Amino acid sequence: MPTEPETDYDPELGRKFIFVTGGVMSGLGKGITAASTGRLLKNAGFDVTAVKIDPYLNVDAGTMNPFQHGEVYVLKDGGEVDLDLGNYERFLDIDMTFDHNVTTGKTYQHVIEKERAGDYLGRTVQIIPHITDDIKRRIREAAEGNDVCIIEVGGTVGDIEGMPYLEALRQFAHEEDEDDILFTHVTLVPYSKNGEQKTKPTQHSVKELRSIGLQPDVLVGRCSDKLDIDTKEKIALFCDVPTDAVFSNPDVDDIYHVPLMVEEEGLDQYVMEQLDIAEEALPEAERENRWRELVTQQTEGEVDVALVGKYDLEDAYMSVHEALKHAGLEKNVDVNVEWVNSEKMPDHHESRMREADAIVVPGGFGTRGTQGKIDAIRYARENDVPYLGLCLGFQLAVIEYARNVLGLEGAHSAELDEETPHPVIDILPEQYEVEDMGGTMRLGAHETDIEPGTLAASLYGEDSCTERHRHRYEVNPEYFDELEAAGLKFSGRSANRMEILELAPEEHPYFIGTQFHPEFRSRPTRASPPFVGLLEAVLGDDPHGVDAETEVSH
Ligand code: GLN
Repeated sequence: MPTEPETDYDPELGRKFIFVTGGVMSGLGKGITAASTGRLLKNAGFDVTAVKIDPYLNVDAGTMNPFQHGEVYVLKDGGEVDLDLGNYERFLDIDMTFDHNVTTGKTYQHVIEKERAGDYLGRTVQIIPHITDDIKRRIREAAEGNDVCIIEVGGTVGDIEGMPYLEALRQFAHEEDEDDILFTHVTLVPYSKNGEQKTKPTQHSVKELRSIGLQPDVLVGRCSDKLDIDTKEKIALFCDVPTDAVFSNPDVDDIYHVPLMVEEEGLDQYVMEQLDIAEEALPEAERENRWRELVTQQTEGEVDVALVGKYDLEDAYMSVHEALKHAGLEKNVDVNVEWVNSEKMPDHHESRMREADAIVVPGGFGTRGTQGKIDAIRYARENDVPYLGLCLGFQLAVIEYARNVLGLEGAHSAELDEETPHPVIDILPEQYEVEDMGGTMRLGAHETDIEPGTLAASLYGEDSCTERHRHRYEVNPEYFDELEAAGLKFSGRSANRMEILELAPEEHPYFIGTQFHPEFRSRPTRASPPFVGLLEAVLGDDPHGVDAETEVSH
């Protein structure tokens, strides 16, 4: 787990703060609304960052089950965080750090450690001011060096866990200049049976906010449609904001269209005016337009990709799904992700896998669903179906090759079968003594050396790449030579660790696996090379061999 520096805060930096709270219920997409607003501010020339507050007691998301909570997102510094940080990184095209995810566990742990160290000697340590001070410190530090910082409070106003945070925000606003702070409240506006947009839930949640001393400046109504003017007026009247501070946020098919919708509603302009930065914004003609071009381009064709995992919850593989979408944006095709549950193979899910144009096996832990994934990899390898294996999907490709090509019966990962006669995947040596589960894997960005002339070199166009990791096991060095002699090429290495595997172009049109997770660095405007290669292989543009040309041109 990354350590936590306590730096001196420079008040000149991190000038403007947008706080985002949610009302009525969670899962309204307030993170996407906030990230979209941030994207537009960035397009207008501002440096924007974000902080996600998760009021749970876990120190970080690393120990949480993706089936309940969605994927664990990994940052470059190795922080294991809530998937919302992934959305901020993708929308804002920034690299965040562990400090940008504030959790109750982290805050209390830090304050209690300080108490044990004697830092508060003589004093009673309390939620107010010690916890609230620590929350404010974290926000200010994370904002440093940026023009605007968006702070999203997870959960819903009224949750007991969220109370210290809302109190901290109240104090924060009290300490800063009024035009440096903007409170945005995202709430639900449901329809009644007779088709009327109902504002009562919004009124109640704003009342709740006001009872703890927070008055929202902006209200965003999540509704299946745009809000009627009557609805906006009613919300304005009861919640004590001008009507033009009430914005619609209707359902859209694709989250990457939310920034366009926010812009159409004028939310970004309103925010800039309220924060008194509208005059510093770039003129519209000079604003960054790449996002809009990409997400509105006319696509030509579709690619079906089978994502063979063990969870039915799509959020469990969010970054992989998004990385496939980004590759689609780059290749100008629609990517349909077919969710294949490897535990439900070989029944109807198997045919779904067989009908797809390409197969991806993502990361994972534990034995459940393993056999179905190995079967899918074998199918891809034997039938020339483009394949991308990510972390566990890389490890299982090694296992499949060891079993079915080398004939090493029972070959497995020591994680999944302790008794295996051929542990081709084994625990990392530095993990032998590790007992704690939280933050102890090989985490974060590490450099991989890429062998020239390989598929990996052609994809990355360079002789190294730096991608994010999250694993405890790796290819067992005792099997390197045997696997390579049988045709499984390790084209990416990091010292003695195998990081990328591939099959030669004569053997397979596209078969590649990475011990790292390239999906975490993929952005809508900057797709990840292994994902782009997967689509190229499907579309018939040979992803192999570009490297030779690049070498000549150097
Ligand atoms: N369970 C495997 C390991 O710990 C793979 C991890 C992953 O896919 N993220 O090495």
